Amino acid sequence: MKKLLLFLIILIFSPFSQESLKGQDSLIFVVRIDDILSRNTSILPRSIVPLQDTLASRGAVATWGFMPHRLFESANADGNLKNELIETHRLGHEVSQHGYIHICQICGQSSHEMYCTYYNRPLSDDQQEKLIMDGVQIMVDSLGFKPTSFIPPGHVFDQTTWSVLERLGFPVISTASTSGFVYETLYNLPITAEYTWALSPETYESKLSEVLEDIESERKKVGYYSLMMHDPFIRLGYQDGITLRWMAELLDSLNHRYDDKVVYASITDAAKKIEQNVGTSGEFYDELTHQRGIELHSNYPNPFNPSTRVSFTMRFSDLVSIYIVSMSGQKLMIHPPQYYSVGTHEIELNMANFATGNYLLVVENSKNRASRMISFVK
Ligand SMILES: [Zn+2]
Ligand SMILES: [Zn+2]
Repeated sequence: MKKLLLFLIILIFSPFSQESLKGQDSLIFVVRIDDILSRNTSILPRSIVPLQDTLASRGAVATWGFMPHRLFESANADGNLKNELIETHRLGHEVSQHGYIHICQICGQSSHEMYCTYYNRPLSDDQQEKLIMDGVQIMVDSLGFKPTSFIPPGHVFDQTTWSVLERLGFPVISTASTSGFVYETLYNLPITAEYTWALSPETYESKLSEVLEDIESERKKVGYYSLMMHDPFIRLGYQDGITLRWMAELLDSLNHRYDDKVVYASITDAAKKIEQNVGTSGEFYDELTHQRGIELHSNYPNPFNPSTRVSFTMRFSDLVSIYIVSMSGQKLMIHPPQYYSVGTHEIELNMANFATGNYLLVVENSKNRASRMISFVK
């Protein structure tokens, strides 16, 4: 009784907890599996069905990060991969395009594809468009559907990737950056965490309690959680069933704890639930920026060294702060909040003291934020 009373008092008198209860009452939960069917064909079984069924039987949905070129490789020698992908799509799971072949066309390494981190330069607009379009074409020809979301291999990408995806009509991308519209009508939905990497009997329990804590704190903060699994590593777990047991136990716990407050969704559906304007046509964009009150234009030059000009347009006067986010997710303030009037403003961004690389530039007012990827190359 005392505990209940205390709880009610906190509920009534603490504006923070009231806000978080009202705002983030539910949890949108995404399970995303990257690199499905690894190149390592010695690890068996090769089927996505056991994981799909583990998720589906508990109400969850899979988002498969799929490299279209796999359909031409030994992974699909017997045609099973193709059939499983067609079936999983029919059942309502999402097949997301994870690059094209997951091998960099410039240096030959496998950790990136759109932006060569070895030579530190992006593939050109034409090269990226060709890779992405070739992948879309394979999926349309072999599987019979066009993907709606795109996962850059190694999460490495640049602004070219965004403009190409937007041009090709993709509504959703998933990178490590913060969520929001990253390029015109292209919406980014980030991964929250990876827990199944090299899951073992020794780490089984600790990882399970860790992820449940993590999920609860993210639910309160943003109401969204995306759990990532990496294929080559879950395949080992597949063999003795550890990964599947772990996922099953996690989902049972979520269903028990949150009941009908947990909403399972694919990446694209989650993006649509979070931001209602995802997937709408260009006509809606003007209205959208109007509601947001802020529009961030392309910076010039880009890539740059050491400075670039950044301009943004305000629809109403407001407090604005400007910061950048590194690829590792570190937030670095450029301009603390200050008032800007209606109209277009330009600032000079000098990054001489920063490391070479891609950054997310964010301009934020009291209502919303606009962001763009910028490339600082020394
Ligand atoms: Zn490369
Ligand atoms: Zn990958």
